[in-house]
Formats: sequence, C-alpha cells, structure tokens
Amino acid sequence: MSDIFCSIIAGEVPAFFVYADDVAVGFLDTRPVFKGHVLLVPREHVETLSDLREVGPFFERVQAVTAAVQEGLEADGSFVAMNNTISQSVPHLHVHIVPRNRKDGLRGFFWPRTKYASDEEAESYASRIRKALG
Ligand code: AMP
Repeated sequence: MSDIFCSIIAGEVPAFFVYADDVAVGFLDTRPVFKGHVLLVPREHVETLSDLREVGPFFERVQAVTAAVQEGLEADGSFVAMNNTISQSVPHLHVHIVPRNRKDGLRGFFWPRTKYASDEEAESYASRIRKALG
C-alpha cells in the first residue's frame, strides 16, 4: 500500500517537516486551516485508527507536537482531530493539529450540532456504546 503520505515519508514528495522519528512523521498541511497546521502520521502505513497497533507511542507524539505547535506559534490553544474513513481524503492515518487563538473566527468548525430528543434517547446511545466496549 502506498499513498501521498508514504511518498512524503520516503522523501519522494517534498514537505515542510516539523517532526520525524521511528514512530511518527509531522509536516505542514499544504492547505492549512490556520498557518502552522500540522499533519502527524504514523511512519508505518496504517489506514484508520482501528488499524493502529502502537496507539500509546503514536499519541505521545501527538501530545508533544501539539504542545510544540502551541508553544512555538504562541497559540492560545489548538484543535486536534482525525477523519476516519468518512471525509478522510488520504488513506493513511493523519492527525490534524491546528493552532487556535481566541477570536480567530473559526466557529463550530466543520459540523452542525443536533440535540437528543430526550434523556431516554441519550441513554440508548450511551448504552449501545458501553455494550460495544464490553
Ligand atoms: P483529510 O481531509 O482529513 O483526509 O485531510 C487530508 C489533508 O491532507 C488535507 O488537509 C490536505 O490539505 C492535506 N494534504 C494533501 N496532500 C498533501 C501534501 N502533499 N502535503 C501536505 N498536506 C497534504
């Protein structure tokens, strides 16, 4: 399996790198939500979150790069997100790390919000998820 992020990791496609080790590679998104928007990807080709085996080590890098984005860019905070299959345009797991600032104009981000019709409906969703978790 190969994709554009595998090509970036292999050095075949240029990128502005911010991080690289044996677990993860981070580089600037070419179409940033805000300047400094980083994509952090596992070095190993992994398509979705469910496919990721070494979850802890990868998310330690997510945590460290997020802190660096905030500190290095003097951002008030960040938005950290991942599209999983739906809206995932590159089939190589990637975490978006976007610097955020107060009054930066980003409202609600990508999605509209809905409401539960009742506490019973909310409980039915919670119980289906608890059941799947065992
Ligand atoms: P998603 O839509 O969540 O799958 O995010 C994919 C992201 O990859 C988008 O934000 C694109 O702007 C970004 N992207 C696509 N090709 C490249 C590339 N060659 N270098 C850096 N970022 C890229």
